[in-house]
Formats: sequence, C-alpha cells, structure tokens
Amino acid sequence: MTMDDRWMSRAACKDADPNLFQPRGEGDHIPKGQLERARAVCRPCPVRRQCLRYALDNPRLTTSGVWGGSTLSEREAYRKAAKAAKAREKAGEVAYG
Ligand code: SF4
Repeated sequence: MTMDDRWMSRAACKDADPNLFQPRGEGDHIPKGQLERARAVCRPCPVRRQCLRYALDNPRLTTSGVWGGSTLSEREAYRKAAKAAKAREKAGEVAYG
C-alpha cells in the first residue's frame, strides 16, 4: 500500500464479501439486487470519494465492479463528461484569453 492508497484501510467494504463488489469477468453486468447491496455499503463509506477518484484515475485497474458506488458505465460517463468540460474550458480560454 502506498501513501496514495492508505484510504483503502478505512474502506467500509474491507470486511465485506468481495464478490458483492466484483462480479465475475469484466464489464458492467451486475445483477440489480447485488448492485443495490453493494451501494448500500458504499453510501456511508468514509472513503467513498477517494475510492471513486481512484477508479476514475485508474481505468485499467477498475474494468469491472462497484467503486465508490459507481458501475463501469457510470465511471465511463463521468470520464466523458469531465473530458468534455475540460475541452469547453480550454475552448473558453482560447476564445476569451
Ligand atoms: S466506496 Fe464502496 S467500494 Fe469504495 S471503499 Fe467504500 S465501500 Fe468499498
């Protein structure tokens, strides 16, 4: 564990069944009941923001499962929205200096 991932030791899921958060295989299919149970653990987790940030910053390490209460498709949507916002910001800098 590095300085940057010490937050993991405070994870609400550290003693939970890992299968709840990591479905078999890659991709985004998580049975609805399982997803809701995982999110119920994530919702009050004290390191939820760090967990989501980690997942967003490390897409190759988080190709499946629930991270920070998010699914893979939600994380992809967050990344896409962030990229679009950054492009708009850059365009504004070019247009308005
Ligand atoms: S947000 Fe969810 S997946 Fe992330 S550390 Fe907390 S309980 Fe675990």
